[in-house]
Order: sequence, then C-alpha cells, then structure tokens
Amino acid sequence: MRRLSQLAGIAVTELVGVGPKKADGLATLGVHTVADLLMHYPRRYLDRTRQARIADLAIGEEGMVLGKVRQVQSRRTRNRRSLVEVDVTDGSAYLRCTFFNQAWRASQLKAGTNAVFFGKLEQFQGRRRMTNPVVDLVGDRTGRIVPVYPQSEKAALTTWELGGWIEEALQRAGTFLDPLPEEVRRRFDLVDRHTAMRGIHLPESADDHRAARTRLVFDELLRIQLVLVRRKRRLEAGAVGLSHHVGGDLVRQFHQRLPFPLTGAQLKAMAEIEADLASAVPMHRLLQGDVGSGKTLVALSALLVAVQGGHQGAFMAPTEVLAEQHHLGLRRLLDGLTLAAEGDNLFGERPVCAELLTSRTTVSERSRIGAALAGGGVDVVVGTHALIQDALEFRSLGVAVIDEQHRFGVEQRAALRGKGAAVPDVLVMTATPIPRTAAMTVYGDLDVSVLDELPPGRTPIVTRWARTDLEEAEAWAAVRSEVAAGHQAYVVCPLIEDSDKLEVRSAEETFRALEEGELAGLRLGLLHGRVASRDKELVMEAFRAGELDVLVATTVIEVGVDVANATAMVVLDADRFGLAQLHQLRGRVGRGQAVSSCWLVARAEEVTPDAESRLGALERTTDGFELAEIDLGLRGEGTLMGAQQKGRSDLRLASLGRDELWVQRTRDVAFALVDGDGGLDAHPVLAEEVALLLGPDDADGPHDRTAFLFKS
Ligand code: ADP
Ligand code: MG
Repeated sequence: MRRLSQLAGIAVTELVGVGPKKADGLATLGVHTVADLLMHYPRRYLDRTRQARIADLAIGEEGMVLGKVRQVQSRRTRNRRSLVEVDVTDGSAYLRCTFFNQAWRASQLKAGTNAVFFGKLEQFQGRRRMTNPVVDLVGDRTGRIVPVYPQSEKAALTTWELGGWIEEALQRAGTFLDPLPEEVRRRFDLVDRHTAMRGIHLPESADDHRAARTRLVFDELLRIQLVLVRRKRRLEAGAVGLSHHVGGDLVRQFHQRLPFPLTGAQLKAMAEIEADLASAVPMHRLLQGDVGSGKTLVALSALLVAVQGGHQGAFMAPTEVLAEQHHLGLRRLLDGLTLAAEGDNLFGERPVCAELLTSRTTVSERSRIGAALAGGGVDVVVGTHALIQDALEFRSLGVAVIDEQHRFGVEQRAALRGKGAAVPDVLVMTATPIPRTAAMTVYGDLDVSVLDELPPGRTPIVTRWARTDLEEAEAWAAVRSEVAAGHQAYVVCPLIEDSDKLEVRSAEETFRALEEGELAGLRLGLLHGRVASRDKELVMEAFRAGELDVLVATTVIEVGVDVANATAMVVLDADRFGLAQLHQLRGRVGRGQAVSSCWLVARAEEVTPDAESRLGALERTTDGFELAEIDLGLRGEGTLMGAQQKGRSDLRLASLGRDELWVQRTRDVAFALVDGDGGLDAHPVLAEEVALLLGPDDADGPHDRTAFLFKS
C-alpha cells in the first residue's frame, strides 16, 4: 500500500520521458516529486460528447466549440488596452473570439491552430462572438472525457505530456493507503483514496469524477481544519491569560456619553467579548463587520475594560494614515473620561491617556512614549507595526486590537501576544465581510463575532455603473454639483497590478487630465503610493479640513479614510478592481447624513462577463455579506487568499463557496479527531500528510504554511 509521503520522496525524473529539461518545466508549475505530480489535478475536462457546433449554439448560451483559427488581429483600444480578435470556424459557422488584455493570445492562436473555445455566445454587430473565452489547444488525444491540466507559458509542456506522466505515475504507484479512518469514510459515503486518485485523473464518467472530487475536497479541507483546530486547542491549553473585571464604571461612562445608543449587534458583540475577557483563557476573537458598522466603538470598549482594571490596551492598524486616523478618533471619544489615579490620593482622578506610535514618531517622542508604556502612564497606544518592535515594553498589556487583520501575518499576531507578562486578549477586526464557512477556514483558530447591522439613519450609497462616455460625463457633472453644494469627492485611479511605477504614472496623468478637463477650476489633491509620508499627511489634512474639493488617489484610500463631508466617488476603470475592493472603496463615502453616490466607470463593451457581474452586483446592493457570497461564487477562494497565493494554497479542488457543507463537516471531524483519544497522533498517516502538505507541526512559526491563509 502506497503512502503519499513515499511518493514525495521520488523525483519526477524517475518517470520515463521526464528528463532534466522537462523537469525544469514541471518545476515552474511547482511539481518536483511524483506526489506533486499526482496532486496536479486537471483544471477541467473536455467532454467530447458535449461539444457543440457553432451554428447550433443559441445567443446567450454557454458552450464548447472546436474550431480552426482562420485569422488573427491585434490592436489597442482607445484606453490603450490590448485587444486580440480571433476568427474561428468549425465548418458550420464563423465565430469571433475577442480577448482583452491578453496580447499573448495572438501568438498562441496562429492561423491554422485547432482549439476548443468555451464561453458564452454573444451577438455583436450582427456577428457571433465570445468575449475572453477559455481556450484549450487540442492535440490528437481521443477518448470521451479528456483531462486538461493547468499549465503556464513558462512551463512549455502540453497537457498531453502531463497526462501521460500522470498515468505512468498512477500505474507505478500501485494501491494508495487511505489516511482517513474507515468510520469517517463510511459516514460521509466517500470513495477511498485510491479510487479518488484514479477518478480525478482518468474519470470514465461524470459520476466517477464527482465522487473523486468530493473525496479529495474532503481531504483538503480536513487537513486545513486539523491545523487550525490543533492551533486553537494549543492556544487555549498552553496560555494563562488575564481574567478582566468587566462591568466597571469606565466602560459605562464611555457608553453613556455617546450621542447615540449602541446597535443590537454592537451590544451582542460586546457581550461576547466581555465573556472572553472575564475568562482566564486568552481571547482570540475576530470581529467582523461591514464598513461603517461601528467596529471601532466595540474595540475601544474592549480596550477600556483592560484600562479600567489597571492594564493597558494596544490598537494596531495596518497603515500610518489609518493609525493616525484611529488615534484622532480615539482621542475625541476618550476626551473627558477619567480614571482613578494611583497613589495616596484616594479620590484623585486622571484623564485616560492615549498615544500614537508609528514609524514617523520621532526618536525622542518614541523614547518618551516607550518609558510611559513601561511605567504605566499611557493607557492606550495606537500604532502600526512599530508597536511590535522588540524594544517596546508594556507595564501590563491587557487587550490588543488588530485592525484589518488580513494585512498581518500569524507571526505578527504571535509577537503582539508575546508583549505582556500574562498573554493579552486579542481582538482582530476586519471590514472584509466573508461568508460564515469561509470564515471557518480563513479564521478557523479564532472565535467570531459579527456586526450584521448598520447604525440607523444611514443614507445608503447610490451606486451607478457608468457604461458609456455620456454616463461618465454625468459622473463628472455629479462631482461638480456636489462640490458646488459644499461637499467633497474622491476619484480613484485605475488599478495597475504588478506595477507600482505604471500606477503612479497613470495616477499623475489622470490628475493632470482632470485638472485641465472635467474638473477644471476645482481644488484637486493627489495621493499615491510614492508620495512621501509627510506630503501624504499634508494632503490628507488639507482634504479633511475642506481645503481640497477632490482627492484623486490610488487605492491608498482603500481602508479607513474617514471624511464625512465626502459624498461622491468616481472609480475609473472599475472593472479592474475586485468586488470586495470596490465595496471597501465605496465605503469611503456615505459616512455623513447627506446622500452619497458612487460612480463606477467602465465601458460596457470592454468588460469581461465576470466584471459585468461584479459591477452589476454593486449597483444592486450595498450589503457586504451578500456581495461576499456573490464574490465567492464568482472567484472562489482567490477572493480570500489573494493573488500572490496562487499555487501555494492547499485548496486545489475545494471551493469555499461551492463546498460550504464540507467545510462544516470537516471542521466537526477535525474537532473529533484532535479531541479524541491520543489526538491526531492516533492517526499517523493522516498526521503525516498534514505535516507533508501544510508544514511541520509548529503553529505560529515562520514555517507554518497555513500562514498564507492570513495574508492578502
Ligand atoms: P467601522 O470601523 O465598522 O467601519 P466605525 O466604528 O468607524 O465603523 O463607525 C462608523 C461611524 O458610525 C462613526 O462615525 C461612528 O461614530 C458611528 N457609529 C458607530 N456606532 C453607532 C451607533 N450605534 N449609532 C450611530 N452611529 C454609530
Ligand atoms: Mg473602521
């Protein structure tokens, strides 16, 4: 019986036909060993029985057609995007395939090439068309269900070569040992590992494939849950935390002085947090809530519980701008709150003291604040990464709040935890709403509180997708009229992934074009990633003070910028942004009483079907959780794990959206196994696979490969 770990010890060059050159190609796909190769699953399957003739496809229908390329044309659109048009025929009719931003298609799809095109048939100027269809080059392989393997341009391997090696590997591997307890397998009616491995690579029917996929999805999700559940149990077991006194006067004072009542969701989250704080088990809780749902108040209340008991609070933000903003807000909220002073005077009171610490804090300030933290003179410190620098000492760190967790790694969380004598309670806040089951995977070692209710009296943001030049002109007119009414606006510049430099240049161009064109005469400011910190703050300050009418910016404004007078936003090339990102951006307006609007600019004829769904969804709803579900459906877990993580993730087959039920089931199984007799060690083959695929058992260490789950 073959174990995966044995195959992980065999290099791919052991296979017939894999020489050093092919091995290099495989390495670019992350495939080094026979185990890697067997886990290089097909990206999809061509079911030759379901191929359609071009002439038989109806407009609006999705289908797969096999055709020969007749002619290829490349050009640039008005917005300097590349456009490749490929004319294809299968003898029944002609089809034009249009590719945006995929210039390399011109060399891939030369005249005479046979390929399968999968997409939705559209009609455009009287012709049959597919926009950005999925393409597979077809060799001479026959058979009914043909696996198509993920490739990369660099690898220069064909799917047929990959398929051949995988068949050989399966043959030579023999029978796979099943790591899963028999009882679990039976309970969920799963096929065994051997059947699953063959069924995923060489399915004979759709049912074969489905059963194989389900089993391998189960394995992937279970491994992740085992790591998370084990980490959660270890955090709970090893550490002694503070048992805070809750219900004291300081928090009550704080709440009473607010000009509004707390929402039901805020009260509920606070009760959950206070229960954690009161217990001696250190808190590891995630506070999830849409933009503007009032997370900051909840977090601050948690910090004040610590302060009231004579401990300190730390509030960590991902950027300087955000830290400064939080610090300003906190000071305002704390203004007038007093604490019983220590010392002789029984009736002495002193104000609650909050300080700011970022990389811009001067050396002398830093040492003053450092001393005050060590001595207990500072109650709450707000800052960036500077807070977890080793030299910083707290007299007694009681509660740490980490805002926008996805920017921090596990290691940083661990470092902050290491700051106090007792383990401080940790509250992580995120404004990225994610569906419940996805949260179980991404934050599986945390407990979760959700603010699922916005404070009353918010005027919803009216979002419009500007599809044409005429509608774009309406957007600029709207900006001008908002400014005329004394309000302010944001313009978000095109996102250019992978190139900071190009993005900066495009932002500068946008700024100049607006200054001379659509927004001439208004007071404009520019903010992008390469503006020096000090200038950045000057611009922000001027915008906050109303000395600028319009802030032209890249996504540096994505998180946390809070100017209630800003009531309009225009996002250029909005189709380039992700759904969650657009939702976050839009949250920068609608912060005050006035009706706000958000314009998403993208030419209708240039957007992909996915982008069309995203922009349509944003027009339809402002509910972050609903949008998160839609996003997960559109993009899979890429939404959560970010582009950089591609290929590193253990979620090769599983989709957090589609396999929701299995997330819950594997989590239950993971708890049962970890908490059962002997823990995971009682299942050595499974434990071995977890170590092999997710890294050694040293949670929180730099080798912990589930760390990718915590970064964006
Ligand atoms: P988040 O951090 O979740 O985006 P904030 O905590 O910044 O949200 O709150 C957004 C705005 O709503 C702030 O101006 C805050 O003062 C206000 N706010 C918070 N809670 C309430 C409430 N219960 N009722 C009315 N307004 C509230
Ligand atoms: Mg916030």
